[in-house]
Amino acid sequence: MQNWSNTYIPTLKESPSEAEIESHKLLLRAGLARKIGSGLYAYLPLGARVLEKVSQICREEMNAANACELLMPAVVPADYWKEGPRWNATREIMYSVNGAGANEKPSEDPQFVLGPTHEEIITPLFGAEAASYRDMGRTFYQIQTKFRNEIRPRYGLMRAREFIMKDGYSFDANDEAASETYHRMASAYDRFFARCGLEFISVEADTGVMGGDFSHEYMVPAEVGDDDVVYCHDSGYAANIEKATSALVPEGLADAEPVGEMEKFETPGVKTIEKLAKEPYNIPADEQFKTLLFVGDDKLFAVVVRGCDQVEEAKLSSLGYELIRPATVDEIFEAMGAYPGSLGAVKGSFKDRTKLDGIYGDEAIRLVGNGTTGANEKAMHMRNVNVSRDLDIDSFGDFRQVQEGEPCPKSGKPLKIARAIEVGHIFKLGTKYSENEKYGATFTDADKEVKPAIMGCYGIGISRTVQAIIEQCHDKNGIRWPWNVAPYHAVITLLDPDMEEAVTLANELGEAMEAAGADVLLDDRDGRPGVKFKDADLIGIPLRVVIGGRGLKEGIVEVKLRNGGDAEKVALADAKARLAEIVSEQAKA
Ligand code: ATP
Ligand code: MG
Repeated sequence: MQNWSNTYIPTLKESPSEAEIESHKLLLRAGLARKIGSGLYAYLPLGARVLEKVSQICREEMNAANACELLMPAVVPADYWKEGPRWNATREIMYSVNGAGANEKPSEDPQFVLGPTHEEIITPLFGAEAASYRDMGRTFYQIQTKFRNEIRPRYGLMRAREFIMKDGYSFDANDEAASETYHRMASAYDRFFARCGLEFISVEADTGVMGGDFSHEYMVPAEVGDDDVVYCHDSGYAANIEKATSALVPEGLADAEPVGEMEKFETPGVKTIEKLAKEPYNIPADEQFKTLLFVGDDKLFAVVVRGCDQVEEAKLSSLGYELIRPATVDEIFEAMGAYPGSLGAVKGSFKDRTKLDGIYGDEAIRLVGNGTTGANEKAMHMRNVNVSRDLDIDSFGDFRQVQEGEPCPKSGKPLKIARAIEVGHIFKLGTKYSENEKYGATFTDADKEVKPAIMGCYGIGISRTVQAIIEQCHDKNGIRWPWNVAPYHAVITLLDPDMEEAVTLANELGEAMEAAGADVLLDDRDGRPGVKFKDADLIGIPLRVVIGGRGLKEGIVEVKLRNGGDAEKVALADAKARLAEIVSEQAKA
């Protein structure tokens, strides 16, 4: 049993101005953590306990899924990364460190980096020793501090620069075994998040710079999330918006016939889709073509979507460029001789077509058929532009973001979109890392052939999960910890901490609850009852037992669950048994 006055739970009445969202406010107000710098947090004793509980559940589920725990260094020689496949794509988010030399400046060519994740380490680590197919079929994991130089750290532990992650990696001899491992880990993830008391969904996700065959993200629905999830209740379809598709464009849609000659017309001052949609032009956004320029590995390329659509940058990775970013206004003008707002992809309208490495059309522009677009000239647009006759498209693909209400790719019913927090992400990686010569994660198969291991990788944001739980489980009075992750399961509130009889009873009841499996906190502080009740609610302990002089006279203690219901008066004679019963019930629920 932990005495409140011997630990450190600095609760706050008001939330510090740095906190914008409820879970961040409660993180600070309940004395779980304190900010040390932007995106850098100290976990105070209560916060450390929750982290430990979440980590322990994670360990249990990983071990049950046959993953073995190890621990790699967080500071890693940069060469491991430089030899790998994503040094250029990831170096911006990595903190780099040089040797101990006092005069060394931050370098373009760092000696060490702080690990943002560990594919680059585990692959050569295991690869150096794995030799035969008998060594395959292994999954490793660690629970460790990770470092990422996030451009905009925010919302406390949600997006931090230093955070705790469970990262796991699997090596299998063939595709079938790798898929089995992937599904076994997916089930372990389902159990882990359920045991944390979270409502979550797993969604199809983009593989991003990680690469790989396919992946799923574990999402906690929340207004404050950074991700959009597209879903359909009827079919169970769920995908991150970066990856989501719809059945908007019917398969086998025929090219639209031209409606007449293409025509250039004056549009003074018109630089947006919205302006062209208004008087005097009245051209709806879904009858316009929008042309956007990007830079992929130093080459300019254009993407054409409907005026009413947004380009989904994550989908552009299918074009084969490693690094993609929107082109700057200067780059655009230099190549097109026109500014954004006047761009178009009509054949023959380019200043110099060879400046574009490619022009890619989103398949939905074929729904427009004949539309209006910029003429690559100031204040000029073109109408009756026919997709197949007039646009200079190299290839078509899915490059736009799905919008709410579009038909589900499985059921055809309208899709919904909701905000969510990504708490975990699993990837079937394939051989992207193992086939790298320097990493040498190859093995000799039963048929004597040397093959690269088929890998998977599996992340859980342990510290982000803690805050996602707070975001989902709170009310106006504070946190409502799910039983399994609560820093303490029960708090005994002593209203008269100087009364010997009360202290003796508290110890007895505390022991009874501990024997039933509960972690117990004893609020032995001097102070007004109101303050103690408020604090107990704020820090979110699931079970509260109140012992006071008045109750003792009546021969009762008061028992209350944080998750609702009225306080229950329990006779002293029954108290131990009743509390043990509640503890077992709650632990099972
Ligand atoms: P995000 O899309 O939120 O930036 P990510 O795709 O970069 O995350 P992964 O590389 O898949 O994340 O990392 C695995 C897990 O680590 C994520 O699912 C998330 O829960 C957690 N995580 C990632 N970045 C952060 C961060 N800056 N702060 C806290 N947790 C993080
Ligand atoms: Mg991710």
